[in-house]
Amino acid sequence: MTNPTETEQKVRQFLKIPLHEEELKMLAKAYDIAVYGHEGFFRESGEPFIVHPVEVCKILAAMNVDVVTLAAALLHDVVEDSEGRVTLSHIKKALGPEVERIVDGVTKVSRINAPVGNSDTQAKVETIQKMLFAMAEDMRVIFVKLADRLHNMRTIDFVRDEAKKRYKAMETLEIYAPIAHKLGIYSIKWELEDLSFRILHRSEYNEIKRLVSEKKKEREIRTKEYMKQLQSALQESGIEAQIEGRFKHYYGIWRKLNEKGKSFGEVYDLMGIRAIVRDIASCYHTLGVVHSIWAPLPGRIKDYIAAPKSNGYRSLHTTVITGYGEPLEVQIRDTQMHEEAEYGLIAHWIYKNKISVKSMQKWINQLLEWRRELLKGSSYLEDLKKELQMDEVFVFTPKGEIKHLPLGSTPIDFAYSIHTEIGHHFSGAKVNGRMVPSSYRLKSGDVVEILVNRSSSGPSLDWLKYVKSSRTKAKIRRFFRDQLQEELVSRGKDILRKVSRQFSVSLDDMMQFDSVRKYLQSQGIGEEEFYSRVGEGTLTYGDVLKLIGEKTLEVVRRSVPKAKPRTGIEISGMKNIEMHLAKCCGPVPGDPIVGVVSRKGMTIHRINCQNVRTVDPDRIFEARWLDETMGRFQTNLRLQVLSKEELGKMIQVLEARGIAVNKLSVIYTKWNYFLVSMNLEVSSRKQLDDTKKLLENFKSVLSVERGNPN
Ligand code: MN
Repeated sequence: MTNPTETEQKVRQFLKIPLHEEELKMLAKAYDIAVYGHEGFFRESGEPFIVHPVEVCKILAAMNVDVVTLAAALLHDVVEDSEGRVTLSHIKKALGPEVERIVDGVTKVSRINAPVGNSDTQAKVETIQKMLFAMAEDMRVIFVKLADRLHNMRTIDFVRDEAKKRYKAMETLEIYAPIAHKLGIYSIKWELEDLSFRILHRSEYNEIKRLVSEKKKEREIRTKEYMKQLQSALQESGIEAQIEGRFKHYYGIWRKLNEKGKSFGEVYDLMGIRAIVRDIASCYHTLGVVHSIWAPLPGRIKDYIAAPKSNGYRSLHTTVITGYGEPLEVQIRDTQMHEEAEYGLIAHWIYKNKISVKSMQKWINQLLEWRRELLKGSSYLEDLKKELQMDEVFVFTPKGEIKHLPLGSTPIDFAYSIHTEIGHHFSGAKVNGRMVPSSYRLKSGDVVEILVNRSSSGPSLDWLKYVKSSRTKAKIRRFFRDQLQEELVSRGKDILRKVSRQFSVSLDDMMQFDSVRKYLQSQGIGEEEFYSRVGEGTLTYGDVLKLIGEKTLEVVRRSVPKAKPRTGIEISGMKNIEMHLAKCCGPVPGDPIVGVVSRKGMTIHRINCQNVRTVDPDRIFEARWLDETMGRFQTNLRLQVLSKEELGKMIQVLEARGIAVNKLSVIYTKWNYFLVSMNLEVSSRKQLDDTKKLLENFKSVLSVERGNPN
């Protein structure tokens, strides 16, 4: 063993970590190159530039990264900031291709100027994409880059240009902190957020800092007391644990105050404690002990072990009420979870050659997955945003089973997630033991109990207004589609029974008529479909009669009277002209009308009929209703209704007023309502307007408009 050189001693001094001789030699070489390259360069603080790469290297050394990463950290700015004294090929020759590759990656990432603030999302996505490319080549690039940014933010006060300062802070908050979050490197994430927050919102930062420090002494004393209490309770239960006090970072408090509209006093987890135990079983055991000494706050237990966050974060969280009556958040995790929580991806990287190649692979795959997504052009930022806000809630059944649901889900979504039938018969829900409205938005940790009414007829269409999950929506829609089908079939059968009575046969017998069989064959449909076509009005009563035999047409006439108002209209001053009423717009006396001449004769349209607009003006004649106009006029209304339940009632009400409903067809629309086309007969515009008002008064009716027959 040779005596350490001066440089080697220096490296040992500032790194303060155990190093093999080979490692020390490598770092000393890197340090010498960095000193040479940065010689004569200074930071804005006035310090020699070399201070910066040394600090970056120290941040990473504290995280136990490998020596290659440390060497690259020392050299990360040397290609960019040495006026060509040091190049990539120098680094490759002196320290090998791995160090060179990382330095190259960091240099590339540093050249990217991320668009920040309200600038366009596409450009941001591209920036992050470039960074991810650099990372995917070697993840250590991003470790160095994050440490680099962390040190730059720690020293940002020396930057004199205010605009540059704000830009760096914004870039940190919008790009680097989310990446640290995504990689689960919370220790860096939190510090980056606080440092940027201080620059971007200085007065809020100071205010929160003041609020926190005001009660800090008192809180520290209590926290120590809680830690002691828990420690001894755990000892009694034979659980070995390391207990830590924990203070929430300022930016996190600010976000809670801002986004959730809470007051400072309502932010529970300003302070908390953390128990680090040996294994997963001890975690749950510890949770039990915590709840035996302090009462848990309902709905605040979060099991991120059973349901890890998407960045891999695992722990148990619970908020309890202490003996002082104040809420306290307790986090419980094992040693490995703890390292992962602090250093995330980096922790996994360290284990590479020691413990788990598998967990490493998971991260790599995740990175590659992002890259694929980016290449497909999916919006990474959107995903990132969603993830930051957690796009899922997880809630518990009374038996303690966990259910994942989309953010914004209601108890109805929960009911359907258990079983479709439970959803259909949902009648109410209790959350954490209390009845809640069906529109209640579930929160993570809620314990949800569904009340079921077995005799209920099924879901209500209103539910579509507030359920969240698209699967729930599909199930409810499906129910109504099936219901509608059933109703159409039974309606069709009713109509056909009436027809069969005209022939003095049963419906079953009539269905065996040659004419009917032939028709079904020619259409390629079965009896069900035939019934439903009749039910929805695609096949009218008249069509069916015609199909079965012309001789019974007399009977049809009675139920489908023709309007014959021939003498009631004057066209361009002339009466008694041969004319008929247009089917498209169904004019009734009182409507402003025009006459349109065609080869078939004169047709009367409403003046604002769509079909008139395209007609040659020479063919349009003035027309008006004469006072003596009498009769019944067919016209069409189009209704948007929420449910079909009242349709029968509507027809009854109309018929009681002498308004015949000739035809009704119901279509279920993809916009969650039914579209009803109603062909009816009225004597005047006034009666039609009254009818509209009458229909609008029905609870299920959204709108009533004049419509076309189809
Ligand atoms: Mn740097």
